[in-house]
Amino acid sequence: MKGKVYLIGAGPGDSSLITVKGLKCIKNADVIVYDRLANDSLLEEARENCKFIYVGKEAKNHAKTQDEINEIIYREALDGNIVARLKGGDPYVFGRGGEEGEYLIKRDIPFETVPGVTSPIGGLAYAGIPITHRDYASSFHVITGHLKDENEELNWSSLAKLKGTLVFLMGVSNLKKICENLIENGKPEDTPVAIINWATTPYQRVVEGNLSNIYEKALEEKITPPSLIAVGEVVKLRKNLNFFDKKPLFGKIVVITRAKSQKKESVSQLKELGAITYEFPTIKIDEISPNLELDEAIENIDRYTYIVLTSKNGVDIFFNKMFSLGYDSRRLGGIKIGAIGPKTGKAIEKYGIKPDIIPNEYVAEALVEELKNVLNDKDRVLIPRAKSARPYLVEELSKLCKVDEVKIYDTLKEQCNPNELMEFLNDKEEIYFTFTSPSTFNNFVEILGDRSKDILSKGRIISIGPITSKTIKQNGYKVYSEAEKYTVDGIMDILLKEGEA
Ligand code: SAH
Repeated sequence: MKGKVYLIGAGPGDSSLITVKGLKCIKNADVIVYDRLANDSLLEEARENCKFIYVGKEAKNHAKTQDEINEIIYREALDGNIVARLKGGDPYVFGRGGEEGEYLIKRDIPFETVPGVTSPIGGLAYAGIPITHRDYASSFHVITGHLKDENEELNWSSLAKLKGTLVFLMGVSNLKKICENLIENGKPEDTPVAIINWATTPYQRVVEGNLSNIYEKALEEKITPPSLIAVGEVVKLRKNLNFFDKKPLFGKIVVITRAKSQKKESVSQLKELGAITYEFPTIKIDEISPNLELDEAIENIDRYTYIVLTSKNGVDIFFNKMFSLGYDSRRLGGIKIGAIGPKTGKAIEKYGIKPDIIPNEYVAEALVEELKNVLNDKDRVLIPRAKSARPYLVEELSKLCKVDEVKIYDTLKEQCNPNELMEFLNDKEEIYFTFTSPSTFNNFVEILGDRSKDILSKGRIISIGPITSKTIKQNGYKVYSEAEKYTVDGIMDILLKEGEA
């Protein structure tokens, strides 16, 4: 059976500007064929085993010709696949989407178009420029600055007469010519112009000027594609309507070293605040399986008066195991539950149970203090937790009553590429390295080897709490700031303060 092709506009750059329908198609796709301008973080939304084909084009350096791209999409659909063809912005705005559609229709391949937020509208908006405004522009015109045939000229005299906003796409290399032609044909030299580079992404840069000086300014600022050239009075509104590059963490780089499975929430929060996140997971969570000791503990859960959980990972593994053995949360009915901190507590609540004990400070020491008030020698405590956890909690509680520690997961070193990180950070400033446990730091240093001194000296080290800070200092590094609450939110608070500074 033939598959189907969805020609999807991925939006101008910010991955959250994809439409609801576009996202649905990505989630359902067997194959995703994507361009350079489509934000590749959207690929994370694809289902497991989805095949990714990059057909990115860079000006003058086409990775794949249009004919090859047409053929790839066609062949994949012919094989019965649901193909998501992801393009930057809207697929029909200078995206050659029409050509791809025609190619498929001619070959009888079912296809649909999913429009997207196009960059001349969305990109200008993120620069604080409304493309129309009752007082300044009652039309807008989107024009290619890169003509198919270099000798083919745009009708400059008509363009120059237009009172609406002009937006040139693919125009950086012709910027001088665009300005000269508009002036020669009668547009006033002082008409405001803005160039917006990498619009809607945390790398967005905006250069403002007018028709007579914008070329020099863009040269000075070394503006490259992809950029939008906006010409018209609406550009002046930017000073009032700009919101995006005023975000508290705009342009700051945050390196995240937690496990892939743990970082999603913090990444999206940081992005929302304007930060550039670099994900460098140094640990991975590896459930110990089979785990007869855990099975046995759950089968004999009535032995216990308390269960103490010390991480979200531990909570998920524990409950999933209990469910897979055929029980539900009622199994824990008569047992008191302790959590080390609010995130662990929230994770427990998801399974329908409110923890009885959550200390104010989120370290084992504080949990021990709280438990000291309630435990006596008749109690028996189950602690399902990480293999590499500090012995402190178990040692201290064992002084009060019987304690069974069951190791349920291990944190292993993740494979990640130090060269890519080095290359990425090479020309960057305002870098923050965040560490959420001693193992994230130890692994980071191990993975980078000799280069870790160099790399870490480029930025500031943020630690989640005293135990992690101790490891960092023992390794000879300086902790720039330590979270007041020993949680990821505590790290976020530090970063927000940095943004205000
Ligand atoms: N289909 C796309 C346009 C593709 S043509 C759309 O609807 O937006 C490619 C040109 O679009 C680039 O050369 C640049 O001029 C513009 N462009 C696309 N995304 C951009 C971005 N994030 N920032 C600046 N310009 C962008």
